[in-house]
Amino acid sequence: MSEMHDTWPFREAQRILDRLESDDKSSSDPVVFETGFGPSGLPHIGTFSEVARTTWVRWAFEALSDRSTELIVFSDDMDGLRDVPENVPQEDMLFEHLGRPLCDVPDPFEEADSFAEHMNVELRSFLDSFDFDYTFKASREQYRNGRFDEGLETLLARHQDVRDVIVPTLREWRRDRWSPFFPVCQSCGKVYTTRVVDVDPDDGTIAYECEKDRKGMQPCGDSGRVPVTGGSIKVGWKIDWALRWHTFGVDYEMYGKDLIESAELSGEIAEILGSEPPEGSFYEMFLDENGQKISKSVGTGLSIDEWLEYAPIESLSWFIFQNPQKAKKLYFETIPESVDDWLEARSKFGDLDDEARHDHPIWFVEHDRTTADEASVGYTSDITFSTLLNLISALNTDDRELIWNYVLDYDPSAEDDREVIEMMLDGVLAYYRDFVLPTKEYQSPPEELVPYVRQFRDFLATYEGDDPEAIQDKAYEIGNESGASLGDWFQTIYRLLLGQEQGPRLGSFVHMFGIESTIEAIDDRLEA
Ligand SMILES: [Zn+2]
Repeated sequence: MSEMHDTWPFREAQRILDRLESDDKSSSDPVVFETGFGPSGLPHIGTFSEVARTTWVRWAFEALSDRSTELIVFSDDMDGLRDVPENVPQEDMLFEHLGRPLCDVPDPFEEADSFAEHMNVELRSFLDSFDFDYTFKASREQYRNGRFDEGLETLLARHQDVRDVIVPTLREWRRDRWSPFFPVCQSCGKVYTTRVVDVDPDDGTIAYECEKDRKGMQPCGDSGRVPVTGGSIKVGWKIDWALRWHTFGVDYEMYGKDLIESAELSGEIAEILGSEPPEGSFYEMFLDENGQKISKSVGTGLSIDEWLEYAPIESLSWFIFQNPQKAKKLYFETIPESVDDWLEARSKFGDLDDEARHDHPIWFVEHDRTTADEASVGYTSDITFSTLLNLISALNTDDRELIWNYVLDYDPSAEDDREVIEMMLDGVLAYYRDFVLPTKEYQSPPEELVPYVRQFRDFLATYEGDDPEAIQDKAYEIGNESGASLGDWFQTIYRLLLGQEQGPRLGSFVHMFGIESTIEAIDDRLEA
């Protein structure tokens, strides 16, 4: 494989390779990739994106190196319940538990042992449904089984160094009493109400008072002294991030743009712990249709199930693959465009030689197929999401056989791409049903334009060619003669043929729909 790569996962992988050259990590240890999630809500498109992008870097790395790899998906379930989430039952019960670690809050759905466990199960089944390969780890288990103990003892011993990194970044009023440690109150079980009042590195303990009253969390007023090990405390999340990198020897992690500064601070903490921070890079957040950021925790906007209702997963992966550091709008109208871009990429992929294929987005987006038999992945047909949508709109049908007849009439080579077109067809039919059909309203032409519509119809009846351009030119010519604006003229035709205000290029449409079918449709409407 050549040294220079165009696709970003290879560039990321190359940075990991460079890092490993200077690292003292044993070459028999796996190279560790990590992604982290807070189990305070359900998994969504952002979750999918982060795991997919990290997985692509992992595949690129595996193509460049013989080293074994591992992807850790980490759930921070010792994180406390900050707010009562929306769309979750038993609000009053949850309110009582504000400030407790999510792993100690009952499951409001009454299915799992805790709130966090419920969300962890959801996360894992979500990831499994896309066949991601990962090792799941949750915070509570790691704290309680002692995996973090060595790091926690180091943090305690170097308490002042940690403060020196974090305190200058805090607002004045928080600086004096800030501590990296969050003891779980032994009386009330809350983690966000305690304040550290003493640290004792010699016996490995800290003392706390349960007195912070924030957001209705109701401290119990008790106090105590606990070891920093064994799950009696957790550390603040920037410290926690560093602790994971250090403990698991993480080599690579991606994060949202809003966490760039946090990642730098966590990197400094990792160094205090004696570890080199991982390689990594940020990605931009998605925007909704108004250009507002879609928050990772709330996950508003288009859901992954909605995307899959209208288009294959490959088109979503294609969309996510494109320049992760550019902000992209993610809403319903993103879907048809992404499908068509994906098809075009697939078509280019099919024309590439073996060497170039490994460095093409399709190699990642359809990894199972491209690694099994890359020569079989391509696309030669002219049929796109928009073509199918226009065709279905003109036919006003969900009869797949009828649709296929038209498709093959228009492009006999579509037979070679039947599998892909079938994959698309379900989604296009659903898209038509949900977005086009409700707004469809056929209209006969206004009186003054009827002669010109007839003229166009008569032109088609005598036209013996097969050239979309000739049909388009004639439509223009007649439109100009009609005295109406061209906009009104074409809208008249679209309302007549498609029941829509807008439509595809008329010449191409007639070419695809067929001249006879077009004439029939015009006749039906003029007689109506
Ligand atoms: Zn308490």
